[in-house]
Amino acid sequence: MGNLVQQYIDKAKAKDPNEPEFLQTVEEVLTSIEPVLEAHPEYIESGLMDRLIEPERIIQFRVPWTDDEGKPHVNRGWRVQFNSALGPYKGGIRFQSNVYVGMLKFLAFEQIFKNSLTGLPIGGGKGGSDFDPAGKSDAEVMRFCQSFATELYKYVGPNQDDPAGDMGVGGREIGYIMGQYKRITNQYDGTFSGKGVENGGLYGRTEATGYGIVYYCREMLKHFGESLEGKTVAISGFGNVSWGVTQKLNQLGAKVITISGPDGYIYDPDGVTAGEKEDYLLELRASGKNICAPYADKFPSATFYPGKKPWEVKADVYIPSAMQNDIHLEDAKNMVANGAKYLCEGANMPTTNEAIKYLQDNGVVIGPSKAANAGGVACSCLEMSQNAEHIVFSAEDVHAQLENIMVNIFKQCEDACAKYNLGDNFIAGANIAGFERVAKAMKWQGFV
Ligand code: GLU
Repeated sequence: MGNLVQQYIDKAKAKDPNEPEFLQTVEEVLTSIEPVLEAHPEYIESGLMDRLIEPERIIQFRVPWTDDEGKPHVNRGWRVQFNSALGPYKGGIRFQSNVYVGMLKFLAFEQIFKNSLTGLPIGGGKGGSDFDPAGKSDAEVMRFCQSFATELYKYVGPNQDDPAGDMGVGGREIGYIMGQYKRITNQYDGTFSGKGVENGGLYGRTEATGYGIVYYCREMLKHFGESLEGKTVAISGFGNVSWGVTQKLNQLGAKVITISGPDGYIYDPDGVTAGEKEDYLLELRASGKNICAPYADKFPSATFYPGKKPWEVKADVYIPSAMQNDIHLEDAKNMVANGAKYLCEGANMPTTNEAIKYLQDNGVVIGPSKAANAGGVACSCLEMSQNAEHIVFSAEDVHAQLENIMVNIFKQCEDACAKYNLGDNFIAGANIAGFERVAKAMKWQGFV
């Protein structure tokens, strides 16, 4: 059977050798679903596996826009509509200079299983552009978003594809994109999620991803008879996800001792406590400078370590909440040397496959991103539902639904581990539980 899975990995490599992130996730997922394929040879015989790793559709388009001096620029835009077996394509839009089709394929592929784990009717997609919003004026961002939406609108819709935000795309960008979509289509139909509440957005969506990660982490610790209360937590990033994670951890009595940015990391032994410090994360992000160093200027208890990562700090729990491939083998070695026990992935695919193996071999329990960070997209789906019903859910209602969804996601991982004798390998548990639902839906829909 090992050879059979390897065949698909090799096929993917031969087709798209220049898409390392996509190949990394294909390898991770396929390797861990082997036991399901052993039990269901029909998934192989019916060509389901070949279809699973091939996007249904990829749209690439030109995004022309002018800066404030009237100078013309041309960027690339994409939407990867990977799998619609469970529902309309669903996934964020990322604006970052290093975005290319392979990165979006990796994110869309992960999204299939993540969305499946939520139990909600959403397929997997992702989009974005190599546009870098850093340092752009508000007017430039608006013109770019309008141009992006002028092409994207042809391929999205409430029952077709429902994009949301991701790195570089927040409420402001979604607002501009949605505004242009509405202007062209004359439809106020909830096609985009992560909107501001005045635009039909969901109360509680902003903190949903971060809160969801902490709920998942709490359930994972509970599985071992432990709680987050009194634990020290090292996190990376300082954006929306890190902020939500920090806020919920503070509420549950844990202490966040690091944050990070592309410039280095901050160590604050007193904790990024609720109130001024927690709020400062939002200020830092809103500054548009994408650096975390100013935190140490503002709060004397903190030290800034330029050019370094927080994984060298001793902590009870690690929560990478910044970006993919943040934790490499040498970081994993630092963590193990510091006695690490738990890693809960906040960002999408933040740990390299090599680092995962090292951590698991050394007894570190990993909460996988596909499961742990599914709270954001789950709440996006609640937003779709709110828009379709023309009603407004309260923040309390959303928080309660989110908590239920996350508890249920951890349970699915736990159950899959028990069913296939996987011990505490929640990465495999999440991949299997996510895959089983998609595979059943694909099977019933025939060879399409
Ligand atoms: N970008 C988020 C994610 O990675 C949210 C996607 C969505 O809400 O559609 O899951």
